[in-house]
Amino acid sequence: MKILLADRAIVGDGERVIEQAGMCVDQRGSIVAVGTAAEMQERFPNVEPTRYDGCTILPGLIDLHVHIGYWWNKPDASQYNDYLVALLAAKNLKEALSLGVTTIRDVAASDGLCGALKTALRQKMIAGPRIFEVNQGIIMTGGHGWQLKGALREANGPWDVRAAVREQVRAGADWIKLMSSHRTPTPEFTQEELDAAVDEAHRLGRKCCVHASLQPAIPMAIQAGFDTIEHATFMTVDQAKQMAEKGLVWVPTMITFFQIAEHYRQAMQAEESGGEFYEYLLKYGSFFMESEQAYRENFAKLMETGVKIATGTDIVLDKYPITPVADEIGLMVELGMPPIKAIQAATQTAADVLDQGDRFGSLAEGLLADVLVVKGNPLEDITALKQVQEVLLAGESRYLASHHK
Ligand SMILES: [Zn+2]
Repeated sequence: MKILLADRAIVGDGERVIEQAGMCVDQRGSIVAVGTAAEMQERFPNVEPTRYDGCTILPGLIDLHVHIGYWWNKPDASQYNDYLVALLAAKNLKEALSLGVTTIRDVAASDGLCGALKTALRQKMIAGPRIFEVNQGIIMTGGHGWQLKGALREANGPWDVRAAVREQVRAGADWIKLMSSHRTPTPEFTQEELDAAVDEAHRLGRKCCVHASLQPAIPMAIQAGFDTIEHATFMTVDQAKQMAEKGLVWVPTMITFFQIAEHYRQAMQAEESGGEFYEYLLKYGSFFMESEQAYRENFAKLMETGVKIATGTDIVLDKYPITPVADEIGLMVELGMPPIKAIQAATQTAADVLDQGDRFGSLAEGLLADVLVVKGNPLEDITALKQVQEVLLAGESRYLASHHK
């Protein structure tokens, strides 16, 4: 048994905050009780509590859009083989834990990588958040990301798309991912192909997500009924209403667009230029500037339709934290979401997306103790989410482990 006490606990349901809070966790890593510090001490007088003064307890964060083994952006990419990719992914997992992230959904990695990581985590060879994954993403021939060797499966026509879905399920995928747009309005899959993917995924008991940034890829994805739509950068209010009606969840991944737009602004002002990333920025910088503007103008309006929103980050920049969920939450708050709701987007809502809301994602009796303790009060200053003091994954302390072992 262990008892944690803090100035407050944010339950994760978008509503409840407990002042002078305490929670009790048993040996199996489950939450036995959540309430006030006084209640905990009364119920468990023989357990010596750990006090976190000036701190807030909340559920561990969930990142629904991660590429945990993304190596293609490394300056020495030519040296990466499977071994190095696995080591990089292990390093990234450890970093994710240290940022308070206790669950990730990987949405395209080298074939078999996430399966191996899940085994290594289970056997405690490495430390990291629990993983849900799609194995390879599915694209049309020459579609978005086709150059990313090993991480994408090209498929054409409804039956080949179904075959590609089956291959991912065979490889252990928990989810299915399709990519249906890139940087131009031309959608990459036909409606028939998208419909086949959703039907096959659901038929095999898997939920499915789709990368759709632009029109008309967004309405096509809504029509097909993907469980989560990633990015949906240029979504209209009407489309958000349709998503809300169909129960589809929006994972906007704003942070990655804002970050690349910022790099572009800096690159345009810098005296030095050149290099592969500079060329990339020259080519796509304006797309990211327009994307940032679209999120700034529309996020609050889209949110007001009632569409469910959950956190994902999609960071594929070198030298940037792998799962900056706290930054994504910060952007949601900056663009009009109340802090307590933005925290829910990264905890209970994201767990519900994964059909795991009855296992983790909020601070409630009987759930696994996936817990983040931060210094300060994120309801007053959302950047407090970055002041990580402790991380529990199913009751086990993983923060110190990730730094000192
Ligand atoms: Zn992505």
